[in-house]
Amino acid sequence: MRLSNKIVLATLNRDKFDEFHSLFTAYPEVELVEVESIIRNPSGLRTVEKYDSYLENAMAKARICNQASHYPCLADDSGLEVLALEGKLGVHSHRYAPPRAGVHQDQANNELLLQEMKSKTDRSAKFVATLVLLIEGIMISATGVLEGTLLEHPRGSNGFGYDPLFLPKDSQKTLAEMTSSEKNRISHRAKALNELMTQIKANGIVFAKP
Ligand code: IMP
Repeated sequence: MRLSNKIVLATLNRDKFDEFHSLFTAYPEVELVEVESIIRNPSGLRTVEKYDSYLENAMAKARICNQASHYPCLADDSGLEVLALEGKLGVHSHRYAPPRAGVHQDQANNELLLQEMKSKTDRSAKFVATLVLLIEGIMISATGVLEGTLLEHPRGSNGFGYDPLFLPKDSQKTLAEMTSSEKNRISHRAKALNELMTQIKANGIVFAKP
């Protein structure tokens, strides 16, 4: 199957768009497009994350985008899973801490996580990302995992979310101390995207520049 080379990324999160944009430099045959430039009112993407699994949330986002745009749509849902917290935060990672006026949500989340981890000796955690691509009625999905540990104090100012607290396995740098290309070599999202692109090829789907 030969398709247009445009894929709409079904997210309103600027950090995620930037990260995917640089991940797709490895796939120059694809032009990644922001959802706001295609759909007039994409605010439904904000409220759709109501399921208990990354896959269902990503499918819901891809479906909203595909129905409104008729373009191939890529969505992801991701989260941080902490062993000592029985796998929390999972699908609730983004809104883990209650919103606080004047405090960025990422900062509130990191502060609450550090507080909950105070008494814990096992600080192992993993990031998980599930991607869904919806193309002409075909759905392809892939999941990537990044294992690591949580530090007791944040380090670094790059990236987003829990990056300053997360030390990937076999790394001296937190994700927030890495450049974006260093993070993109090892991240859960990068692994999921590589797997997704492999599956796309295996399904005989080819993106073609117009
Ligand atoms: P969602 O996929 O939009 O539901 O957001 C998942 C949340 O998990 C983000 O808002 C972050 O808090 C966290 N998260 C997911 N991936 C990463 C990452 O690569 N670095 C740091 N935090 C992440």
